[in-house]
Amino acid sequence: MQKLQGIAVSPGIAIGEALVVDQEGFRIPRRFVARDAVDHELERLAGAMDAAGAEIEHNRDQVREELGDQYGAIFSAHLEMLRDPRLRIELDTMIRERHYSPEYAVSRVLRRYIKVFQSLDRGFLNERANDIFDIEKLLLRNLLGPRREELSEIVSPVIVLAHNLTPSETANLSPEFVVGFATEVGGPGSHTAIVAEALEIPAVIGTGLFLSDVSGGDPIIIDGDQGLVILQPDEETIARYRHEVEEHRNRAARLKSLRDLPAVTADGVHVALYGNIEFPSEVTHCLDRGAEGIGLYRTEFLYLGAGAEPDEETHYNAYLQVVQAMAGHPIVIRTLDMGADKVLPNFDSSGQRNPCLGLRSIRLSLGNLPLFRTQLRAILRASALGDVRIMFPLISTLLELRQAKMVLADVMEDLEEQQIPFNRDMPVGMMVEVPAAVLMIDRFVEEVDFLSIGTNDLIQYTLAVDRANKEVASLYNAADPAILRLLKTAIDAGLKHGIPVNVCGQMSGSTTYTMLLLGLGLRGFSVPPSAVPEIKKVCRSVNIPQCVAVADRVMTMEHARDIKVYLRDELKKAQPDLAN
Ligand code: PEP
Ligand code: MG
Repeated sequence: MQKLQGIAVSPGIAIGEALVVDQEGFRIPRRFVARDAVDHELERLAGAMDAAGAEIEHNRDQVREELGDQYGAIFSAHLEMLRDPRLRIELDTMIRERHYSPEYAVSRVLRRYIKVFQSLDRGFLNERANDIFDIEKLLLRNLLGPRREELSEIVSPVIVLAHNLTPSETANLSPEFVVGFATEVGGPGSHTAIVAEALEIPAVIGTGLFLSDVSGGDPIIIDGDQGLVILQPDEETIARYRHEVEEHRNRAARLKSLRDLPAVTADGVHVALYGNIEFPSEVTHCLDRGAEGIGLYRTEFLYLGAGAEPDEETHYNAYLQVVQAMAGHPIVIRTLDMGADKVLPNFDSSGQRNPCLGLRSIRLSLGNLPLFRTQLRAILRASALGDVRIMFPLISTLLELRQAKMVLADVMEDLEEQQIPFNRDMPVGMMVEVPAAVLMIDRFVEEVDFLSIGTNDLIQYTLAVDRANKEVASLYNAADPAILRLLKTAIDAGLKHGIPVNVCGQMSGSTTYTMLLLGLGLRGFSVPPSAVPEIKKVCRSVNIPQCVAVADRVMTMEHARDIKVYLRDELKKAQPDLAN
């Protein structure tokens, strides 16, 4: 048994068999072959080994010619390893005696070698591990073909283990079969994490390297509450986690009774509790959990899911689906927020030196008016059918907001001319997720109908911490006093000006912060659907003076760590059941 600590990004427990997706995207299943297929499989292995050998020879000759003999020698070493008769005997034996498939045998045997080399504390032998990785990949490519198998094609329950998953790869995972996943890299605020939570798949990311320690089919536990990945768990651990799965189920059933109760504090103050969605299908998750509306619809997943630019009808149909399902409840549609870690081949910003500071989000929309106008037309058309509100992401300057509003006004005129119905009074809001927006908030509130604070980016841009980088994950902290001051400034400005303020970053979905946010005057929370019942439960258990006292105390504190400890203690006192 081996326990790995990563970052907990999507709660819940998953117990199942591993499906390893290596860096090149090969799926390495645990597969057995029928007794009468053994000879055929041995031939397949022999063919793959010959082809891999020929490929290495070809590379060696080419490199020798271009760079000289000493470089060619690297490939000779690969060739020697590949053609080592002991390797061949070991692989043949696994296929013949244990009936392993050649792919599974290759990954099993070579990963064991890799582990031995990695455990040796000598640099040059460590390097050998990489050589064996190369050989493994080469053999798998020859056995499986070059095609990266689509994760969306998984048809039996598995736990996906990968070096990395992009947000769109994650979006394509089928929650029916992918019962959990873990990745070696990734940070707490990454969109991969957000999508995992949306799909309600228990997930842990940023564990560091471990894929060489597992093979497809190994038993795995993902503890999405504590951020643990457990490889080869023993019986006692499995039993303990099975019990925990049961506890989760019971807790969810208890919380279900809150669905139709309003989110009001014990002293009768109403809290607007909305859900965040990435896909129209999530609307049912929101309604099932008792959300009052959609506070953030991340429309970029329309682009990421399709892998191409959607046309007006595609936009409109998606919005229509949401509007119809929400039956009159408010829906805040955010315009395209592509870039940084949400990339498409034709919008790929990763080549930019600093994609988070580059051409992304509203900047991309303003720089590509046909694309922006297409989306605005569809949102406006949907506004004729329900309580649709529009929101612009990553606003940093007044000019940017005014430009976006001008394009919107222009599109409204077009629709009017064409006699296409829309709501002329559709509320227009902005995300507050850049410190510059908070510094200028007294001006912004004059020009919008509502504010929505995106703490995920606000933390990233204020603390200069990449939200998707595990190396700095410990510095990414919603409880940092600087973040809390910004929140207070933005909430105060909204209250003073009489416009609604909502927090839609992940922070608002954590029960740790509910009392604090209520105490700071926040009355709008937009959270992942799975978090709705717990946030509602906290709201219903506390009163406003109690929360104000908590906020006042917190605003005198200097360290994120102390703030978190204090908030957890206060939550425990108010609602022992939910402290996390
Ligand atoms: C945020 O930044 O807090 C936010 C809600 O937007 P996203 O996570 O999509 O960047
Ligand atoms: Mg954001």
